[in-house]
Amino acid sequence: MSDADGFHECVLVAGGAGFIGASLCRRLLRDGHAVICMDNFLTGDRENVAQLLDNPRFTLIGHDVIEPIGFGLRPTQIYNLACPASPRHYQADPIHTLRSCVDGAYNLLELARHSGARILQASTSEVYGDPSVNPQPEAYRGNVNMVGPRSCYDEGKRCAETLFADYGKCRQVKVKIARIFNTYGPYMSQQDGRLVSNLIVQALTDRNLTIYGDGSQTRSLCYVDDLVEGLIRLMGSGDELDGPVNLGNPDEATVLDIAKAVRRLTGTRASFEFRPLPVDDPLQRCPDITRARTLLGWQPRVDRDAGLRRTVEYFAERLRRVRPNSAPSGIAPAGYKASLG
Ligand code: NAD
Repeated sequence: MSDADGFHECVLVAGGAGFIGASLCRRLLRDGHAVICMDNFLTGDRENVAQLLDNPRFTLIGHDVIEPIGFGLRPTQIYNLACPASPRHYQADPIHTLRSCVDGAYNLLELARHSGARILQASTSEVYGDPSVNPQPEAYRGNVNMVGPRSCYDEGKRCAETLFADYGKCRQVKVKIARIFNTYGPYMSQQDGRLVSNLIVQALTDRNLTIYGDGSQTRSLCYVDDLVEGLIRLMGSGDELDGPVNLGNPDEATVLDIAKAVRRLTGTRASFEFRPLPVDDPLQRCPDITRARTLLGWQPRVDRDAGLRRTVEYFAERLRRVRPNSAPSGIAPAGYKASLG
C-alpha cells in the first residue's frame, strides 16, 4: 500500500481542488500514487492544483458529483471531499449542497462498488450539531436542527454517513468515515468567511478583526497536514476498523484567544469588531480523539502557533501575488519574518 511495498494506488480525490483536497493531492503524489482530482470548482480553485498539472501521475477532471460518474474510471481508493465546507458557501444553494452530500455520496459509492475501491467519506463534526457533550466522542448522536440554515450541510453529512455505513453492510464496499473538526492552513479560500482565513486576511490588510458573539465560544483547530495524515491512516486501516473516527485537534481555544494569536503573529494593530452570533453557530467544539489515537496511532503534531504562522505566511504570499505593488502593511511587521520557521 505504500512506497516501501512498491505498490501504488490510483486515488480519486473528489473535491480535490478545494482547501483540504489540494494538500491531500500533494501528499498522495509525494507518496508515489496516481491521483485523479475531480471537482466542479464551486468553492475550489484550479489555482490550488495548477502546479500539479505537469505531473504525469496527476489528472484533473471537471465533474459535479451529483451527476452519475462513468465506470470507466478504475480507482483503487476514493476520498469524498466534494462539498462546500464553509457556511457562507454551503448556504448559498442549500439544495445543491444537500445533493452534493447525498447524491454525491451515492454516485461515488456506486463507483467504489464497480471498481472495488476503498472509499473514505469526509464527514464533519457538524453532525454533532450544538453538542450537549464536550468533548464529543463518536458515540454522541448529536443535537442537530433539521430545518435551520445549517441543516443542508449537517443533515446532508449525516445522511451520507448512513449511506456509507449501509453500503458497507449491504454492498460489501470497504468504507471509512472521518468526522473532521475545524481544519485550517494553506489553500483555504480567502473569501469563505471561515474563522482563521477571515482573521488572517483582515489582519494582513489592516482591517478590524471580526468576532461573532463575545468570542467566548470555543473552537479546536487542526492544521491541515495533521488532518491529511489522519485521513491517509484511516484509509489504510484494516477492515476491522468500523464506524466513524473523529479527526481534529483537542487543543480547545476561545475564538477571542485565536484572534489574539493572529494579532500577535501578524503584528497588526487592528482592533476587534464584535458582531451578533450567527443562528445555530455551535458554542463548543472539541473532538474526543481516543479512537484515532488508539486505532490509528494518530494525533496532531503541529501546535496552534506554528500552524497559524504557516497559514499567515501562505496568505501573505498570496496577497502579495494578487496585489504585488500594494503589499498590505500588516504582512511583514518587525520581527515577523525572523520568527518564520
Ligand atoms: P472546500 O470548499 O475548500 O472544498 C470542497 C471542494 O469540493 C471544492 O473544491 C469544491 O469545488 C468541490 N465541490 C463542492 N461541491 C461539489 C460537487 N457537487 N461536485 C464536485 N465537486 C464539488 O472545503 P474543504 O474545507 O476542503 O472541505 C473538504 C471536505 O472536508 C468537505 O466535504 C467538508 O465538508 C469536509 N470538512 C471540512 C472541514 C474544514 O474545517 N475544512 C471540517 C469538517 C469537514
